Amino acid sequence: MRSFQISRYSRAAPLLLALLALLLIASQLLGRLDFWWYDVLTRNNPFHGPEQNLIVIAVDEKSLSELGRWPWPRAFHAQLLDKLGGARAVGFDIAIAEPSRDHPEADGYLANAIRRNGKVVGPVFPELRSGQLLETRPLPVIAGAMAGLGHTDYERDEDGAIRRVYLRAGLGAPRYPSFAAAIRDVASGQREAIPPAQPPRPGQAWLRRDLVMVPFSSGAQPFHLISYSDALNRLPAALFDDSIVLIGVTANGLGNQQPTPVSVNNAGMPGVEIDAYMVHGLLNHQLMRPMPLWRECLLGALLLGLFDWLLSRRLRAPKLLAGYALAAGAVLLSSAALLYFASLWVGGSVVAMLLLLSGTLRYVSGQARLFSLAFTDGLTRLHNRRHFDEAFNHAFEQCRQKQKSLALIILDIDHFKKYNDHYGHYAGDEVLRKVARALRDCFNQKGQLTARLGGEEFGVLITPSTAQQAMAAAERFLGHMAALELPHSASPLGTVSCSIGVCACIPGAADSTRTLFEHTDQALYEAKRSGRNRVSLYPAQQTASAQKSADDTSALQD
Ligand code: GH3
Ligand code: MG
Ligand code: MG
Repeated sequence: MRSFQISRYSRAAPLLLALLALLLIASQLLGRLDFWWYDVLTRNNPFHGPEQNLIVIAVDEKSLSELGRWPWPRAFHAQLLDKLGGARAVGFDIAIAEPSRDHPEADGYLANAIRRNGKVVGPVFPELRSGQLLETRPLPVIAGAMAGLGHTDYERDEDGAIRRVYLRAGLGAPRYPSFAAAIRDVASGQREAIPPAQPPRPGQAWLRRDLVMVPFSSGAQPFHLISYSDALNRLPAALFDDSIVLIGVTANGLGNQQPTPVSVNNAGMPGVEIDAYMVHGLLNHQLMRPMPLWRECLLGALLLGLFDWLLSRRLRAPKLLAGYALAAGAVLLSSAALLYFASLWVGGSVVAMLLLLSGTLRYVSGQARLFSLAFTDGLTRLHNRRHFDEAFNHAFEQCRQKQKSLALIILDIDHFKKYNDHYGHYAGDEVLRKVARALRDCFNQKGQLTARLGGEEFGVLITPSTAQQAMAAAERFLGHMAALELPHSASPLGTVSCSIGVCACIPGAADSTRTLFEHTDQALYEAKRSGRNRVSLYPAQQTASAQKSADDTSALQD
């Protein structure tokens, strides 16, 4: 019965696992596993695009100490932008959303410098102010002078890290390209007209589309980092000719450090450097896209169900665990190959983990099953002789120590050879099963253990039990057998019956399981000898069933 349930579970398991994978991937409950795997792959990505003439001009600690406290006069930026006249595009990632308070005319100067440069791209980002979602753009006079605007709204994963960005986003409609895409477009001469500023309307959402992974890579950064103060005061303008320049804040004190897969010691990466990675990836057509969630769910469920079905059919322990581990490895390797060679991100770690889990469970349950088989009789599902002997030795010792009485009952089916000869071996097997079931029904109390000792012989161990209690139980069993009325036309009694030997003792120092067994066997022999279908006790005594059977026998003879 139990083995049937196990095999039915194991047949349904691939389907259950597939469902579990579907739920886990869809709910993203184990999303962090995928983040971990993505970060491992990103940090070890051996494929870098060719070098690009990419420069990040950083508002760093050195510049702050040389040029003074932040924010700096607009004139600094105007002067720098004039110096960058030969650049292919300039990403100006510094928010100038408020008019200059001390020098209102400075905004105009900066706007003029931006217009003179002609290739400056500015940032747009969503901001929540008094419960209202706004899109924050540069001052109108400055935005009007720019060659393009791009959003700097990077997607944050649940662990706070930045790995993804939407290529388009905006308030009410995804009207803006991402900041890096806008820079790439200006550099390649395909600039997009700047949409008019969106007046805030209640209930408007920040909409996004076209999700890609930020192409971080390990090793050297794909851009040159220059201090703002050096760019402004020391380096020649020619250095920036034909390059793409990004200007932004990197100084720790000014915030804007974001955790990323390649952040060293969780220190975070300034937004302008994340932009530079994006520009580098866009220029080299190296953007990786995540597989849509519903496809990932279906693929995960399909792969897991298929692998589990195949592996559980083909492999047995000890190869089972290795097979599942290999399959899990193959899933993770495929995920790496898809990321590196097909620019497609599919996590796979949930599927790999479930494969390992399933393999381990199947291995453990298989071992447990083998273990239980080693102590079970295959035909009757009762305990086998090996288990009986172990339990007998243990119980005997316990009773010896506690000076309690234990009883052994051995029973043997009468005229069973004749039964086989008359009804056939299969029918004989069925009788063995029925006798086993009757034993289980009659001896189901705590401290009672039933086993098939071999052939048509069974043993019952009862602890603690006196001889009288064991005799009474054996008599009840004979009554139960009689009530079953299993026909046996080759037996003088007409039905299947048993002879039973009983012996009980409080084990003394000189006693052993062997002597108890031999005495019980002698009682069984006595039951056979005196006419069968009865219970005999060692040492011999007249029992109710013996008396009854003797009466029956003499009545038959009469
Ligand atoms: P008695 O009343 O003296 O016990 O006679 P008996 O015929 O039952 O005893 P005997 O030892 O002569 O024969 C035992 C028979 O049990 C012989 C063997 O074919 C049968 N037997 C042993 N194991 C199995 C089994 O697993 N299945 C079946 N069908 N028969 C078995
Ligand atoms: Mg027999
Ligand atoms: Mg026998």
